[in-house]
Amino acid sequence: MSSYNCRTVKLGRCEIGNGDFSVIAGPCSVESAEQFEIAAKRVFNSGAAALRGGLKKMRTKPDSFQGLGRSAIPFVKDTLSRIPLPFVSEITDPRDCEWMIDIVDVFQVGTRNMYNYDLLRELGRTKKTVILKRAFSAFVDEWIHAAEYIARGGNTNIILCERGIRTFETRLRNTLDLGAVAYLKQSTDFVVIVDPSHACGQRELVEPLSLAAAACGADGLLIEVHPTPKLAFSDSEQAIDFTELESLMQKLNLLLKSQGRKLMPAQPEVIPLRKELHP
Ligand code: PEP
Ligand code: MN
Repeated sequence: MSSYNCRTVKLGRCEIGNGDFSVIAGPCSVESAEQFEIAAKRVFNSGAAALRGGLKKMRTKPDSFQGLGRSAIPFVKDTLSRIPLPFVSEITDPRDCEWMIDIVDVFQVGTRNMYNYDLLRELGRTKKTVILKRAFSAFVDEWIHAAEYIARGGNTNIILCERGIRTFETRLRNTLDLGAVAYLKQSTDFVVIVDPSHACGQRELVEPLSLAAAACGADGLLIEVHPTPKLAFSDSEQAIDFTELESLMQKLNLLLKSQGRKLMPAQPEVIPLRKELHP
């Protein structure tokens, strides 16, 4: 990747990869206007940098909730017009680029699509930031080559996301490979974030894995949070609530301070409701 400059990447009106730390939080799936609005408000007030929310879901079982798709556009637009957070959502098919490009600030490529080279090429033709999740079975080098498919098209706004891999260990949903995160930060120019939620699959473990990710040099986190976690339409076991998110932000803040880093909110010039998060 030496010929591409992926060192800092735009995240809404801010940058990620400049040493500070960006938290992207939100529900696994966009479920309703009310759920999305509550999530956006609370995520903004927590001091996070961006809002996540799946419109199309890649579910293991075909009978599971597949996402609201395009029908959510009107209320998603309405919420985002009032709450100034960059919106991150997963794209699963290159043909969806056309309708998603207006509404999404950051495209997420999920673990199942890291090898979908037509999708990666299509995203390389856009100027939007792409979060490229590691396939659950991918070698680090395959993951880097997947990023190169995007960069080749001229789009170097790429964020790698470690979300856990499959190993012999089955107690947790996946095995979080923090070694890969430390390696990528030391040996490549990539911006790297960690998704603790899919890595562990259990809400109680989201905080320790998040702190560990910050400690080992990650540029940020992608976390699932929900107004009523147990009632979430997807990934209900791993979603945290907003009180837990706020408590995590405070702990992250202390840890980052010891590293000479800080949390990057979506709008650095706006005085956050919780001032102590951004000293
Ligand atoms: C998600 O972020 O909701 C998701 C489906 O993630 P992954 O592709 O890592 O399983
Ligand atoms: Mn999920």
